[in-house]
Amino acid sequence: MDAIAWIKARIEDGRLTVDDLARLVPFAQRELGVSDDGKPGKGTLGALEAATAAPALKIPRNRKAALKYYGNPSWTKTGKGRAVDIDDAWEHANIRSFRLHTGKRVRMHRLVGDHMVALFEAACTESGYTPKSVQTYVPRVIGGTDRLSMHALGCAFDVDPRRNPWGGKVGNELSDLRKNMAECEADGRRSFVQVFEDAGVIWGGRWRHPTNRRPGWGDDMHFQFAGV
Ligand SMILES: [Zn+2]
Repeated sequence: MDAIAWIKARIEDGRLTVDDLARLVPFAQRELGVSDDGKPGKGTLGALEAATAAPALKIPRNRKAALKYYGNPSWTKTGKGRAVDIDDAWEHANIRSFRLHTGKRVRMHRLVGDHMVALFEAACTESGYTPKSVQTYVPRVIGGTDRLSMHALGCAFDVDPRRNPWGGKVGNELSDLRKNMAECEADGRRSFVQVFEDAGVIWGGRWRHPTNRRPGWGDDMHFQFAGV
């Protein structure tokens, strides 16, 4: 049942009243950043349309373009490892919760969340690999640098970190993502990585290893909706 039919059914059987809906209006207005007068006029409806329209998928080509596209939030170090405090106003305006087909909720930038949900479902279905753990928005810097991680912009995600480490191997075995690539290639399906790469998403596994500099054996767990 879609949301409108669901609401109609509840109004008909009296479980939802006009008073309840009227109370939601100022709440939504505050979320949208318009005047919370409780009267949903042109300003509110326009802001609602802008906030809910699904933007086309755009992958900024490099770091500079990504900061411009996702909004370059100000931040300060917290003093705890790589964690940073991100500008609250930017976070409130841009980071949203999205539900993956597995039921798990992830926090991502409003410009990528819906695409993430659709690509993630396609990737799991086609490849037969459904990650158990998915880490998305985390306000932090890139290890050993003063540069904001793409996770802090809400446009990156890591899958099953322990099974997909730097260097592409767990002991002598390939990482789960590389095993999935080999299996899918053998029977002509798209792998988990391939589905995202076909959409233009960058896979960290193609990068150089950070210490031995070996090309193509980088950050297996990591994907980002941005170039480098
Ligand atoms: Zn990552």
